[in-house]
Amino acid sequence: MGILRKEYKDKMKYRTRLLNTLTVKIHIVIFLVAIGSFLYGCAALQEAGEKRQKRLDEKRVEKRFMLTASKGKIGVDANPLEGKPHGESEHYTLTFSKDLLAKDKFDEEKEREIFTGSALSYMESLYDELHRIYGFKPKHKIHVTLYDLYRGTNRVAVTGTQYKYGNNIKTVTGITMHFPMAMYEKHEVRVHELTHAFTNIYFLPTWFNEGVAVLMQMEYAKGTGHPKFESLEGSLKTDLNGINELENWGGHIESTPLTHWRYCYAYTVVSELRKRFGNELYIKVFELMEADQLHQKLAGSMPTSFIVYYISQAAGVDLVPFFKNLKFNVRKIDKDDILQYIQNQNRQ
Ligand SMILES: [Zn+2]
Repeated sequence: MGILRKEYKDKMKYRTRLLNTLTVKIHIVIFLVAIGSFLYGCAALQEAGEKRQKRLDEKRVEKRFMLTASKGKIGVDANPLEGKPHGESEHYTLTFSKDLLAKDKFDEEKEREIFTGSALSYMESLYDELHRIYGFKPKHKIHVTLYDLYRGTNRVAVTGTQYKYGNNIKTVTGITMHFPMAMYEKHEVRVHELTHAFTNIYFLPTWFNEGVAVLMQMEYAKGTGHPKFESLEGSLKTDLNGINELENWGGHIESTPLTHWRYCYAYTVVSELRKRFGNELYIKVFELMEADQLHQKLAGSMPTSFIVYYISQAAGVDLVPFFKNLKFNVRKIDKDDILQYIQNQNRQ
């Protein structure tokens, strides 16, 4: 994604400030009726035979990612009290899980000190990069936990955004990231997960959220995990109702024969639109959603028609025919339809 203009950044800063002020007010009157969490689990799909190539790729990408070291303050505590992190920086905390502390690489104080300092410095640099690209950033610190195995596997990293819903408004309350070390060590996975930490605050449809994260993983981080399909029509998969299988993606940890197809197809869709309408397309989508703040008012997840409305606005072209052709569950709507939908959802 392209670099933002300064005016745009200033505008976003103003909007973020305005949003912060509003959120404080909302907190005062809020009646808590629900809490929830969006979870995005990202399976690593590389096979063992590709290991050598990957090591070479990692080296190459590592060079690209040797960003300027973060100037921010980084605090490290190799032996923290129970429940406290091993390190903290401006936008993160970092904690080693018990199973990782038992491993050779992390069982000595010095090893944990060195790793924590450099990991937080790197993650801060990456954070600055994504902030520069998107023009907005999440309000909450990201709490990262590293494991040997997370949920019994070393192949899935999970970013969760916690929120509460009350007074007809969703408010983000925290962000967590869980990485098995085997996933944390992959630059492309870190970029993918950090993209979620930024974009989850918009409560996007799963296929779009994953599509944008894979776009960053493949095209910014030059990853290899989820290659693009050559043809959207040729690789289309539909369910028994004739609806694109991307619409059935629950968004929680999923591992079925369809999962790899879903990542790749979602990426192919967002990449194709970006190619047609320019590098700034999704920056504009986020800008438009930020201006309207309608995403916060949805009780449930965002329907595809909602995001297609914003992508169409950003592209300056009605994209409903494009999505209908790919069998998405979509219809042409305007802002009044969205407002009406929100009102109906909230009616007792
Ligand atoms: Zn993901």
